[in-house]
Amino acid sequence: MSVTVMTIFAAVLTALLGAMAYIIKKKGVPISVYTRIAALALAGVTFARYVYDQPPVYYIIRGVGNEIPEYGQLSSAASVGALPIFAVLLVWFAYAAMLTLVVNEFYKSETLARITTCFSAPIYIIALAFFGFYSEASLGSPSESLSTLRLWIMAVEIALALSIPLAHAIEKRSIPLPRTARETFGMLYALIFAVLAIMPCWAPQALIGNIDPTIQLYDLTEEHRFIIYLAVVIPFLIFHALKNKSAETKRLVMVYLALATFWAYIGRWDIDMWLNPLDWPLHLCNTAMILLPLCVVFKLEKLFNFCLFINVMGALLAMLMPWELNGTNALGTERVSFWMNHHIAFFLPLLFVALGLFKRPKFKEWVYAVIELAVYFVLMLFVNAWFSNYGECDYFFLNSDFIVSKLGLWAENTRNLTVSFNIGELSFTFYPIYQLLFFIVYMAITVGIWFLYALLFAMWDKSIDRRNREKDYKRMKKELKEFLGDRPEYLPKTSDDTPHLIIRNFSKRYGTNSHYSVRNVSLDVHGGEIFGFLGPNGAGKSTIIKSIVGIQTITEGDIEICGYDIESQAPAAKLHLGFVPDHYALYENLTGREYINYIADLYSVTEEYRNEIIEKLVTRFQLTGSFDNQMKTYSHGMKQKITIMSALVHNPKVWILDEPLTGLDPTSIYEVKECMKEHAAKGNVVFFSSHIIDLVEKLCDRIAIIKKGKLRACTSIKDLSDKGIELERFYLDIINNSDDEHEPYTEPSQEEAKGDAV
Ligand code: ADP
Repeated sequence: MSVTVMTIFAAVLTALLGAMAYIIKKKGVPISVYTRIAALALAGVTFARYVYDQPPVYYIIRGVGNEIPEYGQLSSAASVGALPIFAVLLVWFAYAAMLTLVVNEFYKSETLARITTCFSAPIYIIALAFFGFYSEASLGSPSESLSTLRLWIMAVEIALALSIPLAHAIEKRSIPLPRTARETFGMLYALIFAVLAIMPCWAPQALIGNIDPTIQLYDLTEEHRFIIYLAVVIPFLIFHALKNKSAETKRLVMVYLALATFWAYIGRWDIDMWLNPLDWPLHLCNTAMILLPLCVVFKLEKLFNFCLFINVMGALLAMLMPWELNGTNALGTERVSFWMNHHIAFFLPLLFVALGLFKRPKFKEWVYAVIELAVYFVLMLFVNAWFSNYGECDYFFLNSDFIVSKLGLWAENTRNLTVSFNIGELSFTFYPIYQLLFFIVYMAITVGIWFLYALLFAMWDKSIDRRNREKDYKRMKKELKEFLGDRPEYLPKTSDDTPHLIIRNFSKRYGTNSHYSVRNVSLDVHGGEIFGFLGPNGAGKSTIIKSIVGIQTITEGDIEICGYDIESQAPAAKLHLGFVPDHYALYENLTGREYINYIADLYSVTEEYRNEIIEKLVTRFQLTGSFDNQMKTYSHGMKQKITIMSALVHNPKVWILDEPLTGLDPTSIYEVKECMKEHAAKGNVVFFSSHIIDLVEKLCDRIAIIKKGKLRACTSIKDLSDKGIELERFYLDIINNSDDEHEPYTEPSQEEAKGDAV
């Protein structure tokens, strides 16, 4: 009787709510005003009856090797009837149907909208059609009586749930359905995830039954390790499924996962437990289940640090030294709930950061985490001391010997000192030494975590950088192939391999920086020229030079060495390059001779040419006496000279030097200058950066000035002297007067340059 009344009531209410949505639409109010309120109401009422009591299906344990289910001791469970699997699935799927409907109202996703049509609405229609069965399976104590409030709540729940898709259908005059096979598979894939994420902790025992109760899920046995590995494998799979999705999708999935696992986890609590403070979910890992949904839904950046530093660590320790639950079903509710809680507390904060929902922690974030830990800790000290008046209370292991018993006698002794006092009827007991040590050790562990995170992020960046390089390399290879057409790759990109260096619209941005360190620089340096590169510290000279010589990637633009592209034709381009970096890096256990020969070998320099050039350079740089000594015995200047020699031994067509004269004595400076002049006189490019303006003025044919990553001037020295301008004056004018508002200098095209001879 009550079932019929309720079914009719729910159906009529659905129709009324649909009519209300229609009126709302007619009045021109956005339908989301209704659907969002309905979704929140749906979540609210479902939650109220959900945490009131466990459903009878909670107690079902499928018989071992037995098709006939056992229902535990609870007689009410038996009334679920002959279809316990259907009951379990209906209750479980109805949770997923509710959450997908609710999340769909606040996060836009076509896949989720399709799920609400193809899954959520049908589940509620089934629930309505089998109202008696569904209400028996869902309510703590099935009732035939219309005076049971929760029976009415369930009818309201179904009506609200059905009215939401109905309201959308009324508004749009269509329902979201998958149209292609791809959309169908996408939806099914997401649906499987949505359903699994909210799996109630009692579902495995209800569906699978008793698994060997002797399975030991502690002491790092095989089974224990397996379950710990899952805590790494599951987030890895989720990350890879999501990494290329939009930021919106990532947030939606993470919000859903946090809410769904919260829902599944909190299902173990019922009204009796809520009324007993000794049962509240205040243990550290419990807090994660509540904080994570709050943090991700409301974007609580500061609070999130507690999850990232404190919960992750706590969960990891708990997984390694778990609560030993002997003699119970390995898939029993308690165990599933324990592992689900600790897996989520461990990996969900990491996933949030990995997917970019929260920023990477820096020192400041660690400080927030420690402050939050201190607040939680002090709160738990008082809660424990206070609640202990009513029974055994040990939130966060601050009162019991759970931890010290694992560490030995010395640790147990830390609990000997106690401080007690009374306030009214209540007595409060603290363990100052034990509790202080506990806090300090936990805080110290968070420092370790901080280092671990820093290390992981660095490794992560490196691997992403490498992957990007590989991708770039493949892309450029493809582009080059297209560009070259039938011409082989080893030929220069342009037909001409005479000495020259071209920088075209070069821009560079480091790592994840949002700003460019160098922006849109173009230069054309010809054979026979000595080209000076000037600019204050941090202007971007080394950045450009490192990209010219191919030891750093190019963000935009390209660079050509004697016709070879430095990125896509790196080996060929580098054969024509000699490079003197601003900080040398030598194999100092080798002698000077061994090292230069090693470099000559790399460039396949012939024996004959090698002997001739080495002889000449050793004499010129006055290294004869020490050339056969290990380089670690050399002075700074001598090492610099070896670096210069190693850059010249293969007679490069393009010689690049980054502040080469630093630390050299006057004779050596003179010799390096002579080398540069001779090398350019042979028709090669000499390109160098320096802060010594007099030297640049005397040595160079042309100069460029760079400031704040932009090219400000490019001119010939002769042109300046013809106009009677000293380079120093010119440089200072440019540096002092050019600011970001001024247009940076762009090199004239070849035609313009000819017309406007410099
Ligand atoms: P210069 O050689 O003119 O002194 P740099 O090319 O070294 O200047 O630096 C130009 C800008 O690029 C500076 O703001 C510097 O902080 C930045 N920069 C240089 N190297 C890196 C790097 N590896 N990572 C991030 N930023 C960098």
